[in-house]
Amino acid sequence: MSVGYIGLGRMGGNMALRLLECGVDLVVTDVSKDQAGAVLEAGARWVDTAAEVAAEADVILTSLPGPPQVEQVAAGPGGLLEGMRPGSAWVDMSTSSPVLIRALAQRFAEKGVDVIDAPVSGGPQHCRAGELVIFVGAEDEQLARVEPVLQHLATEILHIGALGAGAVAKLVNNATALGTWSLLSEVFSLGVKAGVDHQTLHGMLSKGAYGRGLILSQMLPGVAFKHNFDPAGFALNLGRKDIALANALGRDLNVPLPVLNLVEQSAVEMVGRGHGDKDTAVVFSLQEERAGVVMHDGDAKEFTL
Ligand code: NAD
Repeated sequence: MSVGYIGLGRMGGNMALRLLECGVDLVVTDVSKDQAGAVLEAGARWVDTAAEVAAEADVILTSLPGPPQVEQVAAGPGGLLEGMRPGSAWVDMSTSSPVLIRALAQRFAEKGVDVIDAPVSGGPQHCRAGELVIFVGAEDEQLARVEPVLQHLATEILHIGALGAGAVAKLVNNATALGTWSLLSEVFSLGVKAGVDHQTLHGMLSKGAYGRGLILSQMLPGVAFKHNFDPAGFALNLGRKDIALANALGRDLNVPLPVLNLVEQSAVEMVGRGHGDKDTAVVFSLQEERAGVVMHDGDAKEFTL
């Protein structure tokens, strides 16, 4: 099987090196040939356009900065659509838009080409070592065809769902990480300005329920997904009091806490609606209502807002 790689940056360049090390026959391109030095030295063949990669390869992988570059490489002049042959597959490993990949896939389907979204978790060193976690959006048989290539790059291939689901999963993953950074920066700055140093706070936080990952491992599946809010483990009335104390401290010390003030408002709303005696996790259900989605299991307890 001949493989193409387009986008030889920090991620793509290291994935290409890994594939070459695994004995894969690789044809590559990038908008800048300077990016390809190490990959060409390791045995890849260079061509000038994505269309030429597509004409030579059975499976084409891309790792590009974002949606505009993905669209250009896929459907722009000299792009994949011009060169791809029926029966071949394009696997986009960029962090990109699920809406875009679904729209592009329709045009590729007309040519008999499979499109798969497969963004990754891990950094350049994981690309180089073949230790990525890959989130795949594809039909079973489409994934089966490209899996031998992806296996060189990953310790885990998570088949999330149909086309676009990999991109959705990646956005949820990164939004969680980025949101956590904002929250951590707020609470640490509050704690430090109130007189406790950052190392001590880190040690304390690591030992508590949050630091031990209990929200993710136990409370989401055991409380939120089951609507198990009553009787409360930790009642929202008490949680609301704590978050109000933290925000009051922030105001006294002139520490801006934008995320925490929004958190307080959701708690205020739920207490106002009469749910102060329910578990703090009940705010999860508030978001179910706001977003118009179901995020609880079929056997969850009856709960109305
Ligand atoms: P990068 O900027 O290092 O690499 C992007 C490459 O794409 C560059 O070599 C660039 O020249 C090339 N490129 C840009 N436009 C092109 C075009 N039109 N045609 C051909 N090549 C083109 O970025 P990166 O860090 O390797 O990230 C790649 C993707 O992986 C991004 O979507 C990023 O969000 C995602 N990602 C990155 C990391 C990370 O730690 N760096 C981790 C997970 C996911």
